[in-house]
Amino acid sequence: LEPLYSLMIRVRVPGGIASPAQWLRMDELADEYGNQTLKLTTRQAFQLHGVRKRDLKQTIQGFNAALLDSIAGCGDVNRNVMCNPNPHESPVHAQVYEVSKQISAHLTPRTSAYWELWLDGESQFSSAPNEGEEDAEPIYGKTYLPRKFKIALALPPHNDTDIFANDLGLIAIVEKGQLLGFNVAVGGGMGMTFGMAETYPRLADLIGFVPTENVVDVCEKIVTIQRDWGNRENRKFSRLKYTLDRVGLEVFRQELNQRLGYALEPARPYAFRSSGDAFGWSEAADGRAHLTLFVEGGRVLDREGYRLKTALREIARFHSGDFRLTGNQNLIIANVTPEDRLAVQALLQEHGVPVETGGPATGLRRGALACVALPTCSLAFAEAERYLPELLDRLEQVIIQQGLAQEDILLRMTGCPNGCARPYLGEIGLVGRAVGRYNLYLGAAFNGERMNKLYKEMLDEDGIVAELTPLLADYAQNRQPAERFGDFSIRRGYVQPTTSGLTFHE
Ligand code: SF4
Repeated sequence: LEPLYSLMIRVRVPGGIASPAQWLRMDELADEYGNQTLKLTTRQAFQLHGVRKRDLKQTIQGFNAALLDSIAGCGDVNRNVMCNPNPHESPVHAQVYEVSKQISAHLTPRTSAYWELWLDGESQFSSAPNEGEEDAEPIYGKTYLPRKFKIALALPPHNDTDIFANDLGLIAIVEKGQLLGFNVAVGGGMGMTFGMAETYPRLADLIGFVPTENVVDVCEKIVTIQRDWGNRENRKFSRLKYTLDRVGLEVFRQELNQRLGYALEPARPYAFRSSGDAFGWSEAADGRAHLTLFVEGGRVLDREGYRLKTALREIARFHSGDFRLTGNQNLIIANVTPEDRLAVQALLQEHGVPVETGGPATGLRRGALACVALPTCSLAFAEAERYLPELLDRLEQVIIQQGLAQEDILLRMTGCPNGCARPYLGEIGLVGRAVGRYNLYLGAAFNGERMNKLYKEMLDEDGIVAELTPLLADYAQNRQPAERFGDFSIRRGYVQPTTSGLTFHE
């Protein structure tokens, strides 16, 4: 008799945009085969948790029917391509989103194994491979990549996909409302291993600019360099970031130019203002509206007095726009028609979901991210998603007492150092060391352009609150105008700035 295995399925959503029909399908599958909740991930994907092994095939067939798949949700290939969900500049956003879809399609493995295993060889996709094509992996070859590969696109001033945390980050360069192309950044990645200083999180380095028509080609060539040069002997050092630090940025750039047959242009000026989401309603030039909702821990569920899952299901039944999963585990009900706006608002309010602010009362809670950790993730040393709301209850008391309720401070918590919720980009980063114990990191930039630094180790809850209380009081009393908490932590000498992955542990 086989044990009752239960599994997590990650469902790919390129650019994080799902139609109402896809939302409804995922909602149904969560009820039928999962744990009655939907997890919105920090990479704009869905996760279904608690799917029993014997139900895997029906579940996958269920989302395939809604034109969703889990190909490359895991494995040593390119993962879900992230794209800035910014609804405010929709004409350009639409162009950037198209590019993200092209990159995603181009880098999707051609193997037919997925279709044969789960879909009896049947696919809803025109791009699905034909039988016998599995040997023809034009980009990945027979050995695939040494390790996973992550790509994100962002549209300044919003860095809400945290592009520097990715192997490959693309910054849209827009002039007079026209998308010209992208600045290219390579070598980001959040994971590290405790006790191994040779492993470290790293932010991507800018290497140049590419016009839009060449961006897919540039992505492909970067992936192939990593395929050929990445470390295949030790998976701990097999991400692109280690390849780059081994060979040097200049050598990498020369190789890229050679494979492209042309040189990347110099990177163009850009400026990121923030890496978080702006909550509440916003209006587009075409009269449609977008509502960004806070989703605590990215968990779409129903609980007493707060029935988010039900409300979204009801909305999906008549909504003619789309749903956009943000890189911060939140959700945008996008492109709401003027006629539907009141109904959307009324449904959310009826089910106890805050609408006007889109979320909770403090900036600290609004910006907080947590990975799934225990009990779902087998790599976790400590709690994150289940525990963070409780810790925030205590930290909010300090925040409110210090008059900082409306200050946006980025707090990110993970259950292990692999960094799924990008904790090294938190102005306050908490990384699980053991059950109930966390390392505390400080000093990341609010716009995702500088990592934090270790401040204290192995803190329990009282320790975290005790360490942060005087810091927050100092911030309340001594910050400069518009100074962010991460910048303040450095200026006041609590931590030194982290200037590169190689100096992260110094
Ligand atoms: Fe990722 Fe670690 Fe969190 Fe698991 S515990 S989700 S591996 S960061």
